[in-house]
Amino acid sequence: MTITNENYYSYVSDYLFINFLNTINIKKIAVTDFLEEENGLEDWLSYMAKQGILNSQQVEQLKMSPIDAKKMKAFREEWRSDFERSGESQNAFESLAMYTKQAPLSFDAFLKPIPSKGGTEGLLAILSFEMLLAYQSGIFEKLKKCDSSVCYAFFIDTSGKRKWCSMEVCGNREKARRHYAKKLNS
Ligand SMILES: [Zn+2]
Repeated sequence: MTITNENYYSYVSDYLFINFLNTINIKKIAVTDFLEEENGLEDWLSYMAKQGILNSQQVEQLKMSPIDAKKMKAFREEWRSDFERSGESQNAFESLAMYTKQAPLSFDAFLKPIPSKGGTEGLLAILSFEMLLAYQSGIFEKLKKCDSSVCYAFFIDTSGKRKWCSMEVCGNREKARRHYAKKLNS
């Protein structure tokens, strides 16, 4: 049975790096790491293209060389824990700058970054470039982890009041859970 990844994501951000952070989440009762699935990274790239977050030129270029899922996972885990502590380390920033230099970017007519190399280096360059821009425009401060105890997703909280990555999925689920817990206790 093939399950498309689309069914897995409770929330899709406009930012590639946030969608990348969110490639791990709890589904039903088990933690699912999409990078560990067979063709997980390729499926994710196709999904990002379908959502219009990556364009076909970017995806074509990235697919020119193999992407190392282990390296990408290490990058994701480093940033997930940095964001959870909400203290980005200087080292982490230096590594972002370094990654953008390993596959220098050019820009298409819509100013989308196209890496000069594909594979791991290309993907790290695109993600790092976007993260440096996001940091400079204050997006990092608005990055929040979903309040649901069974969700791993990060999202951008523009209003400062949002609790859940998705009201439809996590908000409703959490409300139902609290309602049920209250009933049990009364
Ligand atoms: Zn959530």
